[in-house]
Amino acid sequence: MFRLFDTAAGEIVEIVPMIPGQFSMYVCGPTVYDLAHLGHGRYALVFDILRRYLEWRGLKVRHVSNITDVDDKILERAEAENRSPAEVAAEFEEKWFSTMDRLGVLRPHYIPHATEYVENMIRFIDSLLKADVAYAGDDGIYFDVNKVADYGLLARQSPASLRAGARVAEKEFKRSAMDFVLWKLSETSAWSWESPWGPGRPGWHTECVVMSVDILGEEFDLHGGGLDLSFPHHENERVQAEAMHYKFSRHWVHNGFVMVGSEKMSKSLGNFTTLDELLESTDARAYRLLVLQSHYRSPLDVNAQTVSEASRALERLDSTHQRVIDSGIDLTSSRLNEEELERFRDVMDNDLDTATATARLFELRSRVNQLLDDALLEEAATTCATMEHLFGAIGLDLVGAKEADLPDDVKALLEQREAARNAKEYVRSDQLRKELAALGFLVEDTSVGQKVKRT
Ligand SMILES: [Zn+2]
Repeated sequence: MFRLFDTAAGEIVEIVPMIPGQFSMYVCGPTVYDLAHLGHGRYALVFDILRRYLEWRGLKVRHVSNITDVDDKILERAEAENRSPAEVAAEFEEKWFSTMDRLGVLRPHYIPHATEYVENMIRFIDSLLKADVAYAGDDGIYFDVNKVADYGLLARQSPASLRAGARVAEKEFKRSAMDFVLWKLSETSAWSWESPWGPGRPGWHTECVVMSVDILGEEFDLHGGGLDLSFPHHENERVQAEAMHYKFSRHWVHNGFVMVGSEKMSKSLGNFTTLDELLESTDARAYRLLVLQSHYRSPLDVNAQTVSEASRALERLDSTHQRVIDSGIDLTSSRLNEEELERFRDVMDNDLDTATATARLFELRSRVNQLLDDALLEEAATTCATMEHLFGAIGLDLVGAKEADLPDDVKALLEQREAARNAKEYVRSDQLRKELAALGFLVEDTSVGQKVKRT
């Protein structure tokens, strides 16, 4: 029985897939106007880990994550740099995926772009107007939150307390300060689409409803993102869907903030770090390990100390892996310890408790070293293979310590050479061996694959 904390329910609930054996999830993707930061990395890793775990559990997952490529921030950057918004969006989308690839985040199965859905959004907004839950304001079409009885559900606050906390409406025509824009009129901007209400752009909260329903249907299993999206973004998505009588997402799941020191990371605080900056000096797997070692709903402290602790822990895992390989153990043919697999599943089923699961895998690592000390090779093989299989299930691959130290271009050449050998292209493989030699690396072919030494 798999359970997760559902923000709408306010408690941990059992997750029963809508279609047995399948799982449909929509995770809000980035607005592509700048480089990905540590908080982006965390949510992308958390939902990557969730997806991988459900796949490991045997579910066929449909993972959708959008690209918001129409937004005021994109427009502002484009104007400041005298470029087109499309150019800015394309640049940062490419950078986003190259960073995600470095983090080992699996590509979503569907990556809808907001600009491809503008027609659908116009039709959707029109339906909201016809259903009398939206109205025309001076500068666009707005959703009337008073038409929804439980507005504020995902904020875990009553409509009355939200109203008390909301700023006084800055626009007099708004019926409630919390009413949000569905279509922004922009007659002067070059970046706009024609609509029955005049040229403009869709509001962010409308994008995700339209794209998720188009791809996954009017009901699906999970909608997720960082905690900062729960309100107002997800709540505003939810009420639009409810107004159209969609069943929409069965569960809402949010991961905690990234903290730098005791403060939430943000650009304005100046403690903002891009993922690329972090990955310049840190193995990308160390950031995944750091994310795994804390519960996904807890705040995650990212600072020099926690990053270096995670890097050292990763080195210990890699060196145990290397020690096992050096003992001549073939991990690929080792059997797995069923009891450990079950224990892992029980822990992970309990609200994706990667912190406890990872701690247990580190205990297995210590046991592997002890078993090697005692020359109990067969048991060491089973224990190590189980540990690596389970780390693999949550996206962390162990590599030999020596291999981990290799420069990227050498790793790339080694991969090409392995592919060439597998394809029996020996001329090509010899040529790659010479290229590696020129870089100062000697390659030997052994029964367990290529071995590399610095010359
Ligand atoms: Zn969204």
